Amino acid sequence: MTALTDLDDAELEARVLAAGGRPFQARQIAAWVYRQGAADWDGCRNVPRALRDALAAELPLRGSRVVESSPATDGTEKLLLQLADGESIETVIIPDGERLTLCVSSQVGCPVGCVFCASGLDGVRRNLTRGEIVEQVLHARDRLAARGLGRPPARLTNLVVMGLGEPLLNLASLGPALARIHAPDGIGLGARRITVSTSGLPDRMLRFAELPHAYGLAVSLHAADDALRKELVPTARASVAEIVAAARTCFESHGREVTFEIVLLADVNDRTRDADALIAALRGFPCTVNLIPWNPVDRIAGLARPRPERVDAFAERLRLGGINVTVRRQRGADRDAACGQLRLRRLPQA
Ligand code: SF4
Repeated sequence: MTALTDLDDAELEARVLAAGGRPFQARQIAAWVYRQGAADWDGCRNVPRALRDALAAELPLRGSRVVESSPATDGTEKLLLQLADGESIETVIIPDGERLTLCVSSQVGCPVGCVFCASGLDGVRRNLTRGEIVEQVLHARDRLAARGLGRPPARLTNLVVMGLGEPLLNLASLGPALARIHAPDGIGLGARRITVSTSGLPDRMLRFAELPHAYGLAVSLHAADDALRKELVPTARASVAEIVAAARTCFESHGREVTFEIVLLADVNDRTRDADALIAALRGFPCTVNLIPWNPVDRIAGLARPRPERVDAFAERLRLGGINVTVRRQRGADRDAACGQLRLRRLPQA
């Protein structure tokens, strides 16, 4: 059954009119759901009971529900969401100082199959709908309010689309979902606080560059040498040069600095020559490289997290090469830290 969060404004208004309501009541209902955080029809308090009952019979406000939460001692919390068809996805709340960032999924599973990632182990099952993407924000706000981190609806400060899936393969749902999350009369999160990741699909990146809002882009590069990158991202088709060129177009279109993500694996892509290849590939491009020391993942053997001094040396070499560098520290380290692990534990094992 379609949920209200899957509808655009015109579709919601049509449903309200068909149920005997007036156009302004569609706007009232949307405000209850997206701004006030109403989770059920009883929460839409100034909507007449008869109209609520007529709509409730055929239109749930949300299609997903939280079935498990996995809080870590550092405040990071993974939520496992069950979708209307029984599939499950993860969304992760990441507090960091004044920031409250939510990491949302865009697909059930992932088709990219990076060799170090839990999310791609079982492939992709389907794209998320726009409502299933938006609802991750609604559930996270509920959870934050329950934790006392804000009066309902609690405010998230940032959103990253870096959970399960390759977001740019689901632009048809992601574009409208981000527009709802961004809209001042929707959830109201500024476009500059929203970042979308990609495994590096140049044709999709060029379509992303055409979106009307200036969302940020994070490109998972992992290696600047084409042969090594192909080992780490086996489905990769584009060359590093093509990916960097598309990233430049996004930068020029949105005016947002692009981040290149490198998951660092000991003795695989953390060597001096790997840093030098990165410097050469990104020379003259105003961007940031984010180094992410790999988190060990159940069911993935033969890879290791680099030692801290190795990470520091890699970062320093990039800096000396004129590249802006950040190193992501480990979050949620004590429980299901790696992407996709909470969901993996719930799936039947092959
Ligand atoms: S790292 Fe990202 S793109 Fe790669 S398999 Fe995992 S979710 Fe997919």
